Amino acid sequence: MKKRFGSTDVLYLTTIASLFTLLLTTAVSVHVADPVPDQDTPARPDITQPFITQQVTATAYCPCEKCCGQYADNITASGKSVWTNGSKFIAAPSYMPFYTWVIVPGYNDTAVPVLDRGGAIKDNRIDVFFPTHQEALEWGVQEVTITIFHPSNEE
Ligand SMILES: [Zn+2]
Repeated sequence: MKKRFGSTDVLYLTTIASLFTLLLTTAVSVHVADPVPDQDTPARPDITQPFITQQVTATAYCPCEKCCGQYADNITASGKSVWTNGSKFIAAPSYMPFYTWVIVPGYNDTAVPVLDRGGAIKDNRIDVFFPTHQEALEWGVQEVTITIFHPSNEE
């Protein structure tokens, strides 16, 4: 016997479709994991805040004199040490306040904070930090599309 779709079947299918959409929406939303525990670690980003994306030129740097010259003191412009957030952070132009959280593809899986500044860092330029000069050389200079979240309210 061939069963035809009744109104309960339609309701059932609609529910399944809604659940699937919900699942899909959840899957594509940005997941930001807890940063590595560190006494210098700023607050995690508030991922419920709106965000924008921007194409930038990302240049690698490390704490050495070659990269930082007279500022090679292991302290970023924000006053935080270079070991903050597991040494995963960036230098960005001042339109991104300190503790703005940014996802840089290829650099880190999760968002990293803006902790540093630099003379050459303006417009669409950022610097990504690496603990060693060798790692910085391996990154070099890359064009990436970053995701910028609103600054955290707390340090
Ligand atoms: Zn260096």
